[in-house]
Amino acid sequence: MLEIINLKKTFKNGSSALKGINLKINKGEFVSILGPSGSGKTTLLRTINGLENISGGEIYFDNIKIGHNSILEVQKKTGMIFQEFNLVNNLSAINNVLTGLLSSSNKFLSLFYLFKKSQKIKALKSLETVGLLNKSYNRSDELSGGQRQRVGIARAIIKKPLLLLADEPVASLDPKAANLILSLLKKINKEFGTTILCNLHQVDLAKKYSDRLVGILDGKIFFDEKPQNINKNNLKKIYI
Ligand code: ADP
Ligand code: MG
Repeated sequence: MLEIINLKKTFKNGSSALKGINLKINKGEFVSILGPSGSGKTTLLRTINGLENISGGEIYFDNIKIGHNSILEVQKKTGMIFQEFNLVNNLSAINNVLTGLLSSSNKFLSLFYLFKKSQKIKALKSLETVGLLNKSYNRSDELSGGQRQRVGIARAIIKKPLLLLADEPVASLDPKAANLILSLLKKINKEFGTTILCNLHQVDLAKKYSDRLVGILDGKIFFDEKPQNINKNNLKKIYI
């Protein structure tokens, strides 16, 4: 469902973040990307949903080649989850979730809360999936970090995406909340068959929840293994 071929990304300032990434991800897989800070994890996710132009190579997503003409199509089929949740603090949980239905071109509509009843029902269902139905009308800044990330997940799944991209979704959370968030992503992965690509810092969590671990160092993949086959020396190289 996702095929990345010799992907390269060099920023305008000359910094080379991705140096030839080859990666194939099957439908329904839960894949975690491990790697030290600055290794290219965030850039990789951003190129997949068109937030970042690529400098070389190709990305195919659900048989669509990612490029200028396909960005809207790709963004419709992907959901994104962020480390810092990226919620609007003074909006209720349900209104934050509803913004997940807006494409970047019609974001202004959210200012007027012009949502249909059917869309509100979708938002409530998403909040139910993440176990937060009873907080739907709380302002998001009244929620704990773990609850806010659950709102972030509800926003990402409201469109029923084929692919969820999660950029260090638990880096700002304590271990208990981190486990809850990853088990929730796992539940979504199993129940809806959503493919998950998740940048993580914590090896233990990655091993516990993923079908596959991909290690990135300095813009290149240097291992791609099932959790049970992971080589300790490879892990050490990533975290020196
Ligand atoms: P990670 O998410 O693994 O920490 P990033 O993808 O954020 O890594 O960054 C990879 C490399 O690309 C780093 O060297 C970083 O400084 C550089 N980089 C990331 N974003 C930009 C940008 N917008 N402009 C210039 N360099 C960038
Ligand atoms: Mg990052």
